[in-house]
Amino acid sequence: MIVLNFASLNLCKPLLSSLDNIGYEKPTPIQEEAIPYLLEGRDVLGCAQTGTGKTAAFSLPILHILAENPRNGARKIRALILCPTRELAAQIHENIELYAAKLDIRSMVMFGGVSQKPQVRNLRQGVDILVATPGRLLDLISQRFVDLSKVEFLVLDEADRMLDMGFIRSIQKILTHVPSKRQSLLFSATIPHSIVSLSNDMLYDPIRIDITPESATVEAIKQSLMFVMKSDKRSLLTHILLEESPEKMLVFGRTKHGCNKIVRLLEKDGFEALAIHGNKGQGARERALGRFRNGTLQILVATDVASRGIDVSDISHVINYDLPNVPEVYVHRIGRTGRAGQGGIAIAFCDENEGEYLRGIEKSIRQSIPVNEEHPFHSARAQSKKGDKAPKKKQNQGRPRRIGVGSNSSWKSSIRSGNKSSGRGSNSSRKSSKQGGNKPSGRSGSSSRKSANRGGNKPPGRGGHKRSRGGNRTGNRNGGGNRNRSGGVNRKR
Ligand code: AMP
Repeated sequence: MIVLNFASLNLCKPLLSSLDNIGYEKPTPIQEEAIPYLLEGRDVLGCAQTGTGKTAAFSLPILHILAENPRNGARKIRALILCPTRELAAQIHENIELYAAKLDIRSMVMFGGVSQKPQVRNLRQGVDILVATPGRLLDLISQRFVDLSKVEFLVLDEADRMLDMGFIRSIQKILTHVPSKRQSLLFSATIPHSIVSLSNDMLYDPIRIDITPESATVEAIKQSLMFVMKSDKRSLLTHILLEESPEKMLVFGRTKHGCNKIVRLLEKDGFEALAIHGNKGQGARERALGRFRNGTLQILVATDVASRGIDVSDISHVINYDLPNVPEVYVHRIGRTGRAGQGGIAIAFCDENEGEYLRGIEKSIRQSIPVNEEHPFHSARAQSKKGDKAPKKKQNQGRPRRIGVGSNSSWKSSIRSGNKSSGRGSNSSRKSSKQGGNKPSGRSGSSSRKSANRGGNKPPGRGGHKRSRGGNRTGNRNGGGNRNRSGGVNRKR
């Protein structure tokens, strides 16, 4: 299927008009791939990170379906979107408000760290779409302010982060409040084993879509590596600030305490910087982000978790002050500066203890990061330690899926349907794969597609998360009516 614009995705007119106003010209690859399946009523497991346009990929079809099937009577929560951080929740909600500007659909955002009163007031007025972080949601459920019994759509965004942050029990509890007859979507930047098992519990016969921003995104970024002794990192950062006068610099530290320290050291050197991390109050985080976004703050220092959901498109420099100990995180971090095809500068510091992390990163991105020795703090000693193991205590255990960065395409997407593994009758009866060379390019260049239909011999109408909802909500969304016998999808491609 060739999708040139949003209209060809059959979205309703008010949505198209809002997208036009926002300035979205054509769907990004994940939107192009996911929206038709979501309109069909399929569950989706999406492997995609922030920056790919995934918020619109899941919001637009939900909004379309809600708009086409107006409620009877009072407003009830019909869509629940769960995400790990307040920033991300606020950002998703902001986007939904923009997309739904011309629809009679009310949404709200709910997170902790702020008074619950306005949230309760909003709930009382009635909402159709709730965007929430798990803790506050459970809190308000237990106080009986939230009724999830009419939820038709459940979205878990950045599921891997939610599990990393220890939300698994909360998610499981929330699932008990949501009807099993629903459409479910799970998005995650990485698909480790824990996500596979969560998706087995939560999704019914999902389509799997993989979108990884690849080389063009990363290639648009000028990367460099600076070997420096740990004790000189602060001076090196100041040196870069003086030499390069970056417009907007995002500095990554490994720990909350480390981020605070970087801010203090920068202040001593005469630079204003603010930190965002889990220990900062909501107000402080929003103020820092707001100033960073509007350009009145030049330097933001963040941990990885807090940086999720930072939607700032014109970051000129990303500094890996501390190298991440999970290699894939490096790509996520530097991707902050190369968003929407723009170039940017990513500088990684590597000290005498970080050689092993560097090797992991270079292996993961399948390239050596060009070394810049032209700075006063270059350390041959730190460089010579590249082969050394990192100190044990700093190693991280979780090792998510590899993200390829080496191929020619800027985005890579793959779709697999019938992704049901353990315990779901997965004796594959059919397998097909297609590698599309003639697919239109996405926002930043070409995308390659791999699809495999692995529909197991699943009898129709089995238990569990049955989603065939009977009602013919849309022409193409008839609750499984267009599934073929093996549980796969009749694709018109
Ligand atoms: P997300 O991955 O959802 O965080 O989106 C990343 C950024 O891309 C956000 O600033 C969106 O507003 C923007 N975006 C999403 N879809 C499109 C599109 N089709 N065209 C242009 N920008 C988009």
